[in-house]
Amino acid sequence: LLQSQLGGVECGAVVKANAYGLGLGPVARRLAAEGCRRFFIADINEGVLLRDTLAPHAADATIYAFDGVASGDEVSFDNHNLVPVLGDPDQIARWAAHGRANGGRRAAIKLDTGMGRAGLTPVEFDAFAASPADGLEVELIMSHLACADEPDNPLNRDQLARFRIARDRLPDARASLVNSAGIFLDPDFHFDLARPGAALYGINCVPDQPNRMAQVVRLQAKILRLRDVDSEMSVGYGATRRVPGGHRLATVAMGYADGYPRTLSNCGIGYVGDTEVPVVGRISMDLTTFDVTGAPADALNTGDSIELIGPHYDVDDLARETGTIGYEILAGLGARIARVYLGSMG
Ligand SMILES: *Cc1c(COP(=O)(O)O)cnc(C)c1O
Repeated sequence: LLQSQLGGVECGAVVKANAYGLGLGPVARRLAAEGCRRFFIADINEGVLLRDTLAPHAADATIYAFDGVASGDEVSFDNHNLVPVLGDPDQIARWAAHGRANGGRRAAIKLDTGMGRAGLTPVEFDAFAASPADGLEVELIMSHLACADEPDNPLNRDQLARFRIARDRLPDARASLVNSAGIFLDPDFHFDLARPGAALYGINCVPDQPNRMAQVVRLQAKILRLRDVDSEMSVGYGATRRVPGGHRLATVAMGYADGYPRTLSNCGIGYVGDTEVPVVGRISMDLTTFDVTGAPADALNTGDSIELIGPHYDVDDLARETGTIGYEILAGLGARIARVYLGSMG
């Protein structure tokens, strides 16, 4: 879908933060099998893992490190064939010196066009473009949109105008401006390479519009204990919720240590089949209790699962209830949760 939205423009993939919590190796291998050849990660550790996982499948893939290259990491960058995204004059000087001593090095340059976060200021960029450092092969110039998820925000056009000017000053480099949401803006924004992350993982990247992406993530919590309540009792830390006799409770192996947000205490929901079941009491580190009275009694046994993210209640629904965004939910899923991949992951 993203590739068709982009027409002939190349679609890369952002797999930072363990592929948004879903598992770097399997996700990257599958994307490579689908033809992806440009990947973005944040730091060197992610870059080393990604190069190792891709080596047998897509040795030709280019891996860009958003955080650039720290002093002392130059040899690791070389050994794993990583390309730093340089957004700071000192880093540019250092990587250029490394390049001069070693016959030249590939680089991406990041320009701040209005995000106010990372990247060269327009003044710094002008200085760089006026006399590009020897030793660098600048193959990519990139910038990042602050409000791509608000198609009518005028900052988008401002950033586009600034990016165009910069791009014209380094005409031999490819140019990349858009993240997931930017792919759904006007094709003027697309340039040569897109950098989607969230959309690949099913998050709705344009929250005011219906989600166009398939739901690719399900989160299920295994029932450790089913319990029929004889007479009214309280549940969980702080005894914040009382449950009357006749109700049925299911305690699952999922808590805030797994990234299931504690703010969902007494207000989260799960699903048993098509039946919505509420969280009762506080969420603890490893356990959460649901009132499953409404679910058909024969539908549940110890070892069955309650669905916390799925077709009835997707990652954006869960995030909204928590007061955050789907990105934070996925990236926060704990190491204890077993990732199970359906279909071939390469
Ligand atoms: C994380 C990131 C992306 C991906 O953004 P999504 O909104 O997840 O598509 C793209 N570019 C940069 C610079 C990023 O940091």
